[in-house]
Amino acid sequence: MNLFTFSAHFGDENACRQHLKEERDKIGVVGQLFSCKNHYWIKSRWNYECKSCRSRTSLCSGTIMQGSNLSFLTKL
Ligand SMILES: [Zn+2]
Repeated sequence: MNLFTFSAHFGDENACRQHLKEERDKIGVVGQLFSCKNHYWIKSRWNYECKSCRSRTSLCSGTIMQGSNLSFLTKL
């Protein structure tokens, strides 16, 4: 699936992000600094925050979406 069909499939950014969030929750979030596994979801920032060290993990870090040029990802 290329980026064009990806965005066409989801229709808009929110639908796309919501889908990414659901997929990410299934995979699980692991902190990049200390490999922490317990995170809060901060909806206003579309980030996870670690419950112990407070480090932030963006929705797309560590996934194939990281580094892509999708417009909304650059706002995260
Ligand atoms: Zn942590």
